[in-house]
Amino acid sequence: MKIGILGAGQLGRMLALAGFPLDFDFVFLDPATEACAAPLGEHIHAEYEDEHALAEFCVSVDVATYEFENVPAKTAEYVAQRIPLLPAPVALTVGQDRLSEKTLFDQLGIAVPRYMPVATREALDLAVRSIGLPAVLKTRRLGYDGKGQAVLRSPGDLDTAWQRLGGTPDRPAKLILEAFVPFQRELSCLAVRGQDGQMVFYPVVENVHRDGILRVATPKAADPLQAQAEDYARRVAEHLGYVGVLAFEFFVANGQLLANEIAPRVHNSGHWSIEGAEVSQFENHLRAIAGLPLGSTALRGASAMVNFIGDAPDNAALATLPGVHIHHYGKTPKPLRKVGHATVTAADADELASRLQTLQALIRTAEEG
Ligand code: AMP
Repeated sequence: MKIGILGAGQLGRMLALAGFPLDFDFVFLDPATEACAAPLGEHIHAEYEDEHALAEFCVSVDVATYEFENVPAKTAEYVAQRIPLLPAPVALTVGQDRLSEKTLFDQLGIAVPRYMPVATREALDLAVRSIGLPAVLKTRRLGYDGKGQAVLRSPGDLDTAWQRLGGTPDRPAKLILEAFVPFQRELSCLAVRGQDGQMVFYPVVENVHRDGILRVATPKAADPLQAQAEDYARRVAEHLGYVGVLAFEFFVANGQLLANEIAPRVHNSGHWSIEGAEVSQFENHLRAIAGLPLGSTALRGASAMVNFIGDAPDNAALATLPGVHIHHYGKTPKPLRKVGHATVTAADADELASRLQTLQALIRTAEEG
């Protein structure tokens, strides 16, 4: 089976690596010259709006998916009219706009932090009066890894944040103001839904961010919030008629889940599943879109994933560490860029903690280097 992927970044690369043993081949469409999945399949090097390239993409593959949630809606519609595109474009439309996401969560009875849309400077004042401070002002679209957002702590922060994120006088801004959540933990739930509606869920993952970027992701066996997270993910997936892996990010405040956002794709917080679960998120996404039965999401012991941000430690140093599984993405080092990750596996939580500590010391040296 030939699988088309819109986007050819590291998620596409890991989808292909999971797909080869299943006898799948890959065609990527991505405008980037340095597209790190490109060596793993055919690369149609073109803009997402290039209809000639999209037509070529559609005739080359049996089924298509995406690894990048900012694929233009028109591109997704073009593809979906010609070949099966899974998950369906509605998931992209919802996931691309923080306001549509939050509105959908509300509609489905999923708890969210207080929020208000903000289109003008006056509306920002009103929203701050209603929600209070601290609060987080975010662009509705195209924000990722903490980009496109500002924490407002005092009234003096509003002008600076507005100047950075706000619209021009002739065009309303597309922003959202959210209450700042004093969370105890951040969790994500990776759900997979098959074409027959069957769903499986990975154990929820505890995520640690720094500067808005995910650093460490640890799956939690038997977390008290597992059932609640699954219920929320199921509501969204069923509502959207979703097929594939859906990532759902939450804050935990006062022991309760508050929904932050969804990503309609495989997700950085699920990379540990390559070594840490019976069947990885990448294989399960492919199984779902190919119409195969889904695989077990059970843990294979303790594990955690640590991102390489900016630069990666040397293989020579990494390879001396027991239980460390190396993943380089083939990307040029650059400040704050995700260039790879490592999954640490261990027999139990104590061994995992000690292996993580050694790995993190190595990573700090590489990142500072
Ligand atoms: P996001 O792009 O929405 O995932 O935000 C990136 C990170 O910023 C999150 O993982 C949190 O650590 C932090 N953050 C975002 N929104 C809020 C919020 N409403 N309250 C507190 N922290 C937030």
